[in-house]
Amino acid sequence: MEYEIVIGMEIHVELGTQTKIFCACPTEFGAEENTHTCPVCLGMPGVLPVLNEKVVEYATRTGLALNCEIAHYSKMDRKNYFYPDLPKAYQTSQFDLPICTGGVVEIDVDGVTKEIGITRIHIEEDAGKLLHESSEGTLVDVNRCGVPLVEIVTEPDMRSAEEAKIFAEKVRNILEYTGVSDCKMQEGSMRFDVNLSMREKGSLVLGTRTEMKNLNSFRALVRAVHYESKRQILELKKGHRIIQETRKWDDTKGTSSALRSKEEAHDYRYFPEPDLVPIIIEEDYIAKIKANLPELPEAKKRRYIKEYKLPEYDAGVLTATGILATFFEDAVAVYNEPKQISNWLMVEIPPLLKEKELAMENISITPVQLVELLKLVKNNTISGTSGKEVLKVMFDTGKNPGDIVKEQGLAQMSDTVELEAIIEKIVAANPKSVEDIGSGSDKAYGFLTGQVMKATKGQANPQVANEIIRAVVAKHLG
Ligand code: ADP
Ligand code: MG
Ligand code: ZN
Repeated sequence: MEYEIVIGMEIHVELGTQTKIFCACPTEFGAEENTHTCPVCLGMPGVLPVLNEKVVEYATRTGLALNCEIAHYSKMDRKNYFYPDLPKAYQTSQFDLPICTGGVVEIDVDGVTKEIGITRIHIEEDAGKLLHESSEGTLVDVNRCGVPLVEIVTEPDMRSAEEAKIFAEKVRNILEYTGVSDCKMQEGSMRFDVNLSMREKGSLVLGTRTEMKNLNSFRALVRAVHYESKRQILELKKGHRIIQETRKWDDTKGTSSALRSKEEAHDYRYFPEPDLVPIIIEEDYIAKIKANLPELPEAKKRRYIKEYKLPEYDAGVLTATGILATFFEDAVAVYNEPKQISNWLMVEIPPLLKEKELAMENISITPVQLVELLKLVKNNTISGTSGKEVLKVMFDTGKNPGDIVKEQGLAQMSDTVELEAIIEKIVAANPKSVEDIGSGSDKAYGFLTGQVMKATKGQANPQVANEIIRAVVAKHLG
């Protein structure tokens, strides 16, 4: 029997507000443990939460960017459960009336566009963090309690690890653009839960699923899907039923294990949050946020193809993050050579960033500096090869390319008199090459050019050198 993977995802995204969702505590990451707390986010009896308006704005922006309907009326609910990292013993979330519903995200899978449905997006608060590293046992840091989240829930529309990854990357890309979150997965700002089931290919009935929680990298996501789909197929082949359960992915071991049997909505005893008023959103509020949405990746990509005549591949790479797109646009604004800029951004810069372990947002050169370098290459002041060397030095020192070229004497030798003298000498020293050319073998030209490059330490303009070599050889052949 041929099996098909079915995946639906829940994505938790920490919103980049300054303060928490129901109190004025800061949301800043990495503060000393248990210092960003107050009676409200600690859930002391008798305190009253007040909804942070920014959270509503960011959630609305998220919903619009993912093509959702924004509810004019939604409300907060209590989701009751006991966790050691949640002192309130309930999470304030949204149950039956979430702020956004019915969205769609288009993904590109092997050149085919596929739509992934967004079931809902709701607002909720994050829980604290358990620290298991201490020798004294498990410690709890409640700074994260009350950090605002949106939870994005998809339809079970994905059919492979690859699709899940492309979708997750796409969502991160869109959210980064809209500025609602820094989406730093290494800091837990974006976490994926994968719901996965198997079914016979072609069947329309959903199989029993498991849920893997808190995957915090694309790599973990892909590996977890591969592992879980194989595990389920093995179980099914043995004639076992899949147990609906929550599983924990161990990224170091590359395996998952059962955490707890899946709870149902009624286990949480959801009820409307009595301390908060409903969220009423007027149409003109939505319209205003919509009008202020930035150009999203898909639209930007189409514009790059049209306006800059870039290949689709380039446009896709350049718009993959807002940071890269902005760098590109800043460069094009002062130097109208989109393809040249694109080539250097896609090919030359990434390995240097990798070597220095830098993210694009921490790049040490400016778009104007890159442009200055590209102009030197374009007008043949330096060769492309020297250009790459100069770029390296720019990364190391932050110096301007013009200065580096001067300091290192990298300017190409286009002075024909000087070049002629060098070439005369080289041709005279290699009579065998001249003879080979005379008997019809052009390969020797390559050898002579190589010698000239060596003698000039790569500074000869190859085109000019080539012309002179041909002339001098012709003279020798008489
Ligand atoms: P819960 O709220 O209990 O986690 P939901 O029904 O809201 O459950 O679904 C959560 C996620 O699981 C959604 O992304 C949904 O698409 C996905 N999902 C539901 N059923 C299946 C299934 N049989 N196989 C794969 N994914 C599923
Ligand atoms: Mg769930
Ligand atoms: Zn607080």
